[in-house]
Amino acid sequence: MDNTSHRLHQTSNRQEGIRASNKAKQYFEQVAKSHAYIANVRRDFLQKTTTDISRKYYRIRIEDLNISGMMKNEKLSEAISTLGLYEFRRMLTYKEAFYGTKVELVDRWIPSSKTCSKCGSVQSMTLSERVYICGAGCGHKMCRDLNAAINLNNAPNHKIRAASAKLTPTDRLGADSPGRSRKQTPKSSGYAI
Ligand SMILES: [Zn+2]
Repeated sequence: MDNTSHRLHQTSNRQEGIRASNKAKQYFEQVAKSHAYIANVRRDFLQKTTTDISRKYYRIRIEDLNISGMMKNEKLSEAISTLGLYEFRRMLTYKEAFYGTKVELVDRWIPSSKTCSKCGSVQSMTLSERVYICGAGCGHKMCRDLNAAINLNNAPNHKIRAASAKLTPTDRLGADSPGRSRKQTPKSSGYAI
């Protein structure tokens, strides 16, 4: 907690003889509770989604985003941590051991969003453009994310590496954890995020 937020949450000051009022205490308890609730809902959503994907598919390809690097960017970091991208990828990867899936990371420099998945031409795409409309005239028109996903699926093998599992102590308490049968995946082709 930094100084600013500490000051915001401070309800009393012994040096100055200010005592916390019950209302102030109640308010901050309520704030803490709702933060915990939101964190739980988010975690639950990520757990369910990653379990669902792992049950349905054997090979799962995701973009190898430089999440640690993006987290250092102040403008991006809040959006990324809200989305739980890092958690999403981490959960998918450690679930390899439970579901026998294979999580593959596609080279982050492949222009998956900018490439036409039908004819292969590349064009610039702003973040606000949600539909890919091929400017090369092949007639391809598709949801931006689906178009990018097809490109990831078609990515050449030399642009793919295996993800490596990272477990934290809380994963062992996870609702869908099979407990003792857990084993860590031995694969690692180098570095993790
Ligand atoms: Zn095209």
